[in-house]
Amino acid sequence: MSTDTPGSQSSLHRANLERVLRAVRMAGSLTQAEIARGTGLSAATVSNIVRELKESGTVVVADTSSGGRRARSVSLSGDAGIVVGVDFGHTHLRVAVGNLAHRVLAEESEPLDVDVSAQQGFDRAERMVERLLGQAGFPADKVIGVGLGVPGPIDVETGALGSSAILPGWTGVVPGQELTGRLSMPVHVDNDANLGALGELVWGAGRGLSDLAYIKVASGVGSGLVINNQIYRGPGGTAGEIGHITLDEAGPVCRCGNRGCLETFVGSRYLLNLLNANHPGELSLGKVVRLAQQGDLGCRRVIADAGRQIGMGVATLCNLLNPRRVILGGDLAEAGDLVLSPIRDSVARYAIPSAARQLSVVPGTLGGRAEVLGALALVMSEMGETGVL
Ligand SMILES: [Zn+2]
Repeated sequence: MSTDTPGSQSSLHRANLERVLRAVRMAGSLTQAEIARGTGLSAATVSNIVRELKESGTVVVADTSSGGRRARSVSLSGDAGIVVGVDFGHTHLRVAVGNLAHRVLAEESEPLDVDVSAQQGFDRAERMVERLLGQAGFPADKVIGVGLGVPGPIDVETGALGSSAILPGWTGVVPGQELTGRLSMPVHVDNDANLGALGELVWGAGRGLSDLAYIKVASGVGSGLVINNQIYRGPGGTAGEIGHITLDEAGPVCRCGNRGCLETFVGSRYLLNLLNANHPGELSLGKVVRLAQQGDLGCRRVIADAGRQIGMGVATLCNLLNPRRVILGGDLAEAGDLVLSPIRDSVARYAIPSAARQLSVVPGTLGGRAEVLGALALVMSEMGETGVL
């Protein structure tokens, strides 16, 4: 059907319809009044569009109450479509299958060996997706799209993994192509920090918000910025590189070529090096957090110092973007107040008071699932009206 014919299928109508669908898709469930507020459409337009979507079986409408008044809540129908999330981490492969009504139907995680080749990795992802779709009881042709997460930069023009990417030997691989070729489904690719942000927005500590910043501290430090329910990537795809804010011009040389970046003071390699001398055995960030919680003074000090430095980065972010909430993810977030209190202290010290007052810094609630759930949310965010009507 042409999109520019007059009448009910006019391009304006379709655009309004997509705005309503998108708002419901990202929130899970909204009242008609909330849809009107979020989209800027009139109550009458929203009411007409919701009726049309209900008749086509795309949404379900239920009676509810909002502020003591009767209201109608709108959510997507459970069989409006299936989405798949695939998350490649440094040491794991995780896959989830969900529907557009925000239900996760099946989920699984496997360890990923650093020696695995890209081909083997994608072969395993293909088998996991097929197995989980079978478990959830849906055929492949019900899948609207696949969200794919990789812990490294993606070249915006070629879609290839950059050199600091996940596993040795994966540089130059085009992940989107690899997975599309195997699954014959549309694949959307993004990095782990952006997916963590979307995961927390839709399922975790950012529910109900439309703007937030998610900061992931692991071997590297990255952030995902959600502005108006969408990831902000910038024209080159590098928005949110908070790990490369300069803290000390004469500091250690960073993998980006600069000196004294935030990442050089709080990335896991730096933190573990500080502790290696008097903590025998193999240390990991997760273990440092556990030791700190058990009272190990050296580990507590290292985490507190990292929190102070992260807080300087958060203060800068706060001054530039004035977000309402910053969500901390990655291994270090498991330290709770041991890392959050020094972050908050730094924000209070370095950010503009009016921006700092409105900001809350909280831990993510999804832990290691943030990225794979974010991969599901990525499809919901990017899919447009494909497959829904
Ligand atoms: Zn750097």
